[in-house]
Amino acid sequence: MYGLQNIFLKFKTDLAMGKTRRESIKLLGLGGIGLLSGGFTLPLKDPRYIITLSFDDGFEKSSIRTAEIYEKHGLSACLNIIASAHLDQFQLPNEYHDWPAGDFTLWNELKRRGHEIMPHSYKHTNLAQVPLEEAKVWVGKCIDVFNEELDGFAASESVFNLPHNASTPELEEWLYTRFRIIRTHGGLYNPLPFKGMVRLGCGGFGPGNIDKHLTESIDNFLEGPPGWFVYNTHGLDDEGWGPLSSGVLDELLSRLSGLENVEVLPVIPALDTI
Ligand SMILES: [Zn+2]
Repeated sequence: MYGLQNIFLKFKTDLAMGKTRRESIKLLGLGGIGLLSGGFTLPLKDPRYIITLSFDDGFEKSSIRTAEIYEKHGLSACLNIIASAHLDQFQLPNEYHDWPAGDFTLWNELKRRGHEIMPHSYKHTNLAQVPLEEAKVWVGKCIDVFNEELDGFAASESVFNLPHNASTPELEEWLYTRFRIIRTHGGLYNPLPFKGMVRLGCGGFGPGNIDKHLTESIDNFLEGPPGWFVYNTHGLDDEGWGPLSSGVLDELLSRLSGLENVEVLPVIPALDTI
């Protein structure tokens, strides 16, 4: 391992050799760490643009493929799972869920491989359309399944990804007491992570293919001011509401991972860049 002084020397050498700050960080495996110890701060700043593709609904084939594509580019995917979707008694919320869902054997494996596995409800109930007390029951059941099934899960360190991105102010207030952050309605653009951030908005497109909408939305984001872009993706190719072509995802991650000041991150690692 590098000593602290050697890290800094290597960093300076890389810069002198024309390597970008981002390349140096990658080589050192330091991610967004700025402060190491003893008040010594590496000359790192928050990335100016963070992009999160937030994949919902946990389709088995799509999730495996998504993880493989992210791994090809040295990145971690953000996969949001319906706690009961793999069970025989699961009732499809609508026609856009009619593909086999992964189970917690798969989710534990993908988590071990470095992907973010987060709750996306117990059974995809629209929690803004049921009484608050009922919504709390469904969220509680979701937390119970994740506690039981997903290795190392703690709600207080997790993201709750609301089904249909539907929430009420009262429900959100309660969710803040259970989770580190929630993802719900509010649009594609969020501020860069800040201390105390508890709510992310997101956007999306569907029910047809999202290739054009997603790539144009990202291009527009990168032409504007710094921030955190959160797009609610679902399945790949022919699975789910608003599917994304796997080849387009591959090309997109290839392009984005080569851009200075752009980080493709799941939610919690993005928050941890603060
Ligand atoms: Zn969903």
